[in-house]
Amino acid sequence: MIFSHFLGVLPFRGGRKQAEMGRLFIEDAKGEKVLMCKGCRVDSASYDDIESKEFQGRYGRAYLFRKVVNIVIGSSEPRFLSSGFHVVNDIYCSSCMQLVGWRYEIAKEESQKYKEGMFILEKERMEKKGG
Ligand SMILES: [Zn+2]
Repeated sequence: MIFSHFLGVLPFRGGRKQAEMGRLFIEDAKGEKVLMCKGCRVDSASYDDIESKEFQGRYGRAYLFRKVVNIVIGSSEPRFLSSGFHVVNDIYCSSCMQLVGWRYEIAKEESQKYKEGMFILEKERMEKKGG
């Protein structure tokens, strides 16, 4: 089910965001300790930008980040999560197009609003560098 969903939104023909970011432009995450995409070892986020490590992703433990790099943002979709109703975008590594997590676009609950514009990265899809 997850796999077919993944194929459904993967921007094979190059979405708007992908065109803006450019296919070959790779940005370095700042800081000593970095999370890299497990698939292609391109930087995904700096530990300096972690908001919380206490999140649950599709594949287990996940981290909440204020900022990520080398990420393509998929289409908006409504999703019921453990913390209530949200509108989220799945996010993909811009280098290898692996699904790596999601972005919170809208949180309905007042207590969850702080997550809007932040990113979940699945620990299972990531590899640590440095630190
Ligand atoms: Zn990758």
